[in-house]
Amino acid sequence: MSDNDLACYRIHITGIVQGVGFRPFVYNLATRLGLWGWVLNSSSGVEIEAAGPVAVLNDFVRRLRDEAPPLARIENITVAPCDPAACDLRPVFRILHSEARPGEFLPISPDVAICDDCLRELFDPRDRRYRYPFINCTNCGPRFTIIRDIPYDRPNTTMAPFVMCPECQAEYDDPANRRFHAQPNACPVCGPRIEFRSRPEGPSLYGEEALQAARRALAEGLVLAVKGLGGFHLACDATRDEPVLRLRERKGRVDKPFALMAFDLATVERFCFVDEADRALLTSRQRPIVLLRRRPDAPISPHVAPNNRYLGFMLPYTPLHYLLLEPADGFPPALVMTSGNYSEEPIVTTNEEALARLSALADVFLLHNRDIHARCDDSVVRTFSGAALPIRRSRGYAPDPVRLPFPVRQVLAVGAELKNTFCLTRDRYAFLSQHIGDMENYETLRFFEDMVEQLKRTFRVEPEVVAHDMHPGYLSTRYAQALADRLPLFPIQHHHAHIASCMAEHGLTGERPVIGVAFDGTGYGTDGAIWGGEFLIADYGSSQRVAHLRYLPLPGGDAAIRRPYRVALAYLWATGLPWEEDLPPVAHAPAVERIVLERQLARGVGVVPTSSMGRLFDAVSALAGVRQEVNYEAQAAIELEMLVDEGIEEAYAFGLDGGEIDPAPVLRAVVADVRAGIPAPVIAAKFHNGVAAMVRDVCLQLRLATGLNEVALSGGVFQNMALLRRVVRLLEEAEFAVYVHRAVPPNDGGISLGQAVIAGRA
Ligand code: ZN
Ligand code: ZN
Ligand code: FE
Repeated sequence: MSDNDLACYRIHITGIVQGVGFRPFVYNLATRLGLWGWVLNSSSGVEIEAAGPVAVLNDFVRRLRDEAPPLARIENITVAPCDPAACDLRPVFRILHSEARPGEFLPISPDVAICDDCLRELFDPRDRRYRYPFINCTNCGPRFTIIRDIPYDRPNTTMAPFVMCPECQAEYDDPANRRFHAQPNACPVCGPRIEFRSRPEGPSLYGEEALQAARRALAEGLVLAVKGLGGFHLACDATRDEPVLRLRERKGRVDKPFALMAFDLATVERFCFVDEADRALLTSRQRPIVLLRRRPDAPISPHVAPNNRYLGFMLPYTPLHYLLLEPADGFPPALVMTSGNYSEEPIVTTNEEALARLSALADVFLLHNRDIHARCDDSVVRTFSGAALPIRRSRGYAPDPVRLPFPVRQVLAVGAELKNTFCLTRDRYAFLSQHIGDMENYETLRFFEDMVEQLKRTFRVEPEVVAHDMHPGYLSTRYAQALADRLPLFPIQHHHAHIASCMAEHGLTGERPVIGVAFDGTGYGTDGAIWGGEFLIADYGSSQRVAHLRYLPLPGGDAAIRRPYRVALAYLWATGLPWEEDLPPVAHAPAVERIVLERQLARGVGVVPTSSMGRLFDAVSALAGVRQEVNYEAQAAIELEMLVDEGIEEAYAFGLDGGEIDPAPVLRAVVADVRAGIPAPVIAAKFHNGVAAMVRDVCLQLRLATGLNEVALSGGVFQNMALLRRVVRLLEEAEFAVYVHRAVPPNDGGISLGQAVIAGRA
């Protein structure tokens, strides 16, 4: 066949090729090359039929890969020649309408941060969208948060009430235009608008006036409730103490860190140390909050993140954010941007709700009239050895699926309790929900239930089985049990799910089990005890607990989580160390409480056995005098981590006796150091070094016994970078293959993936 012979190719492309401007790209390329045929979105990617001279067709295929639009990620291109006589060819190239066939699904794109082209137009006085807060195009803008139903067409989004003006419609219809089929396309003439109110029932300002009023309020130190992409934020000047303290007081948030936003990378770098990986994440289209080490002289109020060496920064991701943060004399270079809600409730999304419920938190309001359909919190990541380690996987990431190493049956996995997410599976996809939150109240449960129904519909998943945590008290467990008359339940042990989530995201097939190290605060064990310092030999089908932290009898169980000094007292008791006043947790405990506690421990009444690694961190934090009571989860451990003196190489030694890891020698050494006046940063370092060495030593024993060489690290304790760095270094020095989380969080936000794969494979 010569290069000029005519041929027809059927081309199938998989990967992220929908909602990213791929069809117009194909259309334009094919038209430029003079090819005939068509392109359409199918349930598994993009289908193309193209006819023309062989040489041109081959050039076309090469350029499909080389010149694909920025948001596209091509996994595979297959090309099959077909018989031109049998093809419905017309002398044009067309974009065919795609329809979701019954039972098939079309993926939905997460929200995408404003692109460079739109950003340029936003600040270009000659552009018709100059300073328009809702500018977007095929390559950027809201997606998941505005989609009511599939297919992703404007009538199925919250943009439906806005009728495009002729100019916008012309862009939308023109395949050569950047806004071809950009569903949220809008302009100041036809699109949504912003609205400012200084009090809930007060008069409104619109457009640029609204924006400037909001900026003035922020500059004056007021708290602004501002509607974003997935919900409301509460914003205030982050460089001054007074607004930050006022926001803390109103939110009832004593010292849990607030997230920050700055106009650009250069500004963030004035406040924090930013490396290459951080920079890539900050500027990525997902625009997560990135935890960055703060510069000692950073002019950020210390009340933004008390006792923390890190600040959580994000860059603007909507045009409105860019306008709101535009640098100017007297305008703060960084804003607190925290979720608009009361502590544990879901983030507020509607104007009405904001005016009613946030009026006690905010002084002024910046609203808009594009509705938020799916609530979605900001994502949080940090970097670990040059790549992302997710802390909260939500806006920008959800509902992109995690690719599985094998096909699974359809499962609903309801997750755990804190930082809940749920997961739906079909084929080789695991669709994780956005961050739902702590399932401790009715509002959060409602949000959970609504999202389950919505994502089931969207991804055409009809679960055959419901996977849930073994903990009988979790609201997620009770939700699953309520479905028991219709669907089989699949209870899964908490730490098995943690390890399976880490295996699945790394594409491990599970043919060989791994050594799973699951360290966290709380997880229900198969014996009814609270686990959390666990070594498992696990694959997807089974999990064997081969070593764990020795059980501590903990009075009050969950109640002790808020009071690390009680955990320390329990550990002293268990270790046979008397409660003497020179030890900080003893001095902190009221005398009456000590008497009650002693009686409880002596009789073993109201005492829950726990092997939790999180509680051991709490105890050491309290003994070192760092933190006796906490205001947010893991605060004592986090503050201990922040103190670690990196120059110290000594380590406390655990007792290793078969499958039981004895922390008593560690506690005795900590107490001796405290009495010897050893400073907390040294104690913190010796403790972190000791835990890491213990992990290595136990893994070495397990390798000897089983021949297994792969170690998966999971559980919330592995958000501790000081620990993770040490553990990974020691394990790699011992030539283990080590897996750390890269796609889902090590904390309970990743649990649903592990549950889904275990139940999906069974
Ligand atoms: Zn754009
Ligand atoms: Zn318009
Ligand atoms: Fe956990």
